[in-house]
Amino acid sequence: MRRASAVGVRGVLVPGVESGGWTRLRRLAQTHGWRFALGTHPHALPRSQAVPDQLHGASAIGECGLDGAVGVPWEVQERVLIAHLAVAHEAGLPVILHCWRAHDRLPPLLRRFGPVRGVMHSYSGGADLVDAYVAAGLHLSFAGATTRPGARRPLAAVRRVPRERLLVETDAPDQRPHPLGGRCEPADLVVIVRAVEAARGEALEAVLTANAEALFGAWPGEPPPPG
Ligand SMILES: [Zn+2]
Repeated sequence: MRRASAVGVRGVLVPGVESGGWTRLRRLAQTHGWRFALGTHPHALPRSQAVPDQLHGASAIGECGLDGAVGVPWEVQERVLIAHLAVAHEAGLPVILHCWRAHDRLPPLLRRFGPVRGVMHSYSGGADLVDAYVAAGLHLSFAGATTRPGARRPLAAVRRVPRERLLVETDAPDQRPHPLGGRCEPADLVVIVRAVEAARGEALEAVLTANAEALFGAWPGEPPPPG
């Protein structure tokens, strides 16, 4: 958090993964001044299909979504996702959506559900699907893949997103931006901001901050000192 603060990161939002970790996540978030989300990540679906009901100060619902690599039937994944969307809608909270190898299934599901406020996180689809996600109501967020040498596909998608729907994230501890090695951390966000700015040929720091605050609410000034 000290390193992140030093490069201008004003706050972090830590998504939920599975119900067994929600209590600990909430406690850590309260201790360290993080925001947090509650949800069941598709990777956790073989063990748990829990949908959060006690929200206890969560800023968002998620991660939730579809993943073509987890080996859980689509009917189950879609049922759990729709339940998360319903909780978010009911609570007036944004969702953090995960989608991997399921970009043929997610847009139709979102169309059936109706407008969804939230973020398509670490967007892995092509530029051709950006309009469908924007029409569904979503922001699109980009992570370390934008920094890889020869990253044509993610950068084409970056250029397609309307300015007011664009977000960046670290997806820490995964996806450390190139050429850094090891675990990704919040301070690495700057490298992703620069890659996205280079792809679009414009300064975006203020826009990205405003977009994040429009979706998740205003962050208070500086994060509390670590320790
Ligand atoms: Zn994800």
